[in-house]
Amino acid sequence: MSHKITRREEMEKVKKGFAFHMYPDSLIEWCMDYDARVEGIKLCTPKDELELRLRLFKLIPPEKIPACLAKACQTYTQALNKKKNWNTYKIVKKIEDAYYEALEDCMPELLRLHEELCPDCPWNGWTIFSSEYEEGK
Ligand SMILES: [Zn+2]
Repeated sequence: MSHKITRREEMEKVKKGFAFHMYPDSLIEWCMDYDARVEGIKLCTPKDELELRLRLFKLIPPEKIPACLAKACQTYTQALNKKKNWNTYKIVKKIEDAYYEALEDCMPELLRLHEELCPDCPWNGWTIFSSEYEEGK
């Protein structure tokens, strides 16, 4: 509880990568800035949901990411950095589509990975709040 992180230390290196449960209804998402997202979650999550949200939101170690997805993502971010005019926009759009396709193709692997890295998770395929909704209301 009393674990203090020096903010400056944390800010110096932005932690990014694929993350589980960046949003309550998201299994996997690219996270640009882990710490900023944690701050965001703390700001706008009701107290009784906060512990669960913070427990489940975690970066996936890069070496665990399926190769096909890692590659698509790399191409995608490279293309984004190049985005300058409508011509390149079209290329980026194509690569973006390929990225989402790769994400879908990798889903069985991602679900296995999720099982491994996210124990005791109430994720039911569309939300992390499933068990509470079923039991509570
Ligand atoms: Zn999970």
